[in-house]
Amino acid sequence: MFDTLSDRLANVFSSLRSKGRLSEADIDRTAREIRIALLEADVALPVVKAFIAAIKERATGSEVAQALNPAQQVIKIVNEELIGILGGETRRLQFAKNPPTVIMLAGLQGAGKTTLAGKLGLWLRKAGHQPLLVAADLQRPNAVQQLQVVGERAGVEVYAPQPGSGVGDPIQVARDSIEHARRTMRDIVIVDTAGRLGIDEELMAQAAGIRDAVSPDETLFVVDAMIGQDAVRTAEAFRDGVGFSGVVLSKLDGDARGGAALSVRHVTGQPIMFASTGEKLEDFDVFHPDRMASRILG
Ligand code: GDP
Repeated sequence: MFDTLSDRLANVFSSLRSKGRLSEADIDRTAREIRIALLEADVALPVVKAFIAAIKERATGSEVAQALNPAQQVIKIVNEELIGILGGETRRLQFAKNPPTVIMLAGLQGAGKTTLAGKLGLWLRKAGHQPLLVAADLQRPNAVQQLQVVGERAGVEVYAPQPGSGVGDPIQVARDSIEHARRTMRDIVIVDTAGRLGIDEELMAQAAGIRDAVSPDETLFVVDAMIGQDAVRTAEAFRDGVGFSGVVLSKLDGDARGGAALSVRHVTGQPIMFASTGEKLEDFDVFHPDRMASRILG
């Protein structure tokens, strides 16, 4: 995902390494080169600005001037600031005191929500939980069936309206699913919601209606890391329209430039909690800012 950015940064640092001491001009040039590398990776401008300002301030301070190996010290600063941009600490799922814990998934169509429902379901089941997946995407033909296929692969029950039952209201389905979870002793409910190709008011209103019906403990905004700068705009629209407590980056296995991953935390103020890295249900993990920063810096 970050190959180009990693290569660019490696080049910036290798030209620093040959220097015993770093002049102000060296630091300016380095900051400029890092800035270009980030912009080319599609990182949002406000994030780039904040990042570069922090690097410059720290790199011109005494921690670099007094360092035995100034280049190494600059790399250390970039690493620490990258971890900060990615959210610092790993943010874990918050479970409800009184089960079931309700996790709602939101995002554009194609972002990877249904796949994520299966991944999260499998991951939670392996951790000893008894999750229930809920098909509250009644918009797209086949969405219910797709979730049922995913649920079967994950070994997790799927709650969906019976065909011909006349229940066509996703808000009603979501509400009923919580009752079903209580009756059947499920401790986690994962609600898959409808997404559109673009942001629209009807979609937001429906997602907000589901949110109000189920009072989620976590609302996860799922975003395709390959959509570049659009990720930030989409994240802002979902933040304002539905609100969310965490972000899931999907398709991190792609070869796009990765700017979304580096922007979304800073822009929305909400932590990246999980990363999806492929089509298989196992291609999924908790997001660790420090590991991601290490990967970027190679
Ligand atoms: P939804 O519309 O948000 O529910 O998205 P889906 O879960 O249906 O995913 C859309 C497409 O992206 C499907 O073809 C998935 O197999 C694929 N997909 C989902 N997550 C990933 C991922 O992490 N990596 C890759 N390469 N493909 C993914």
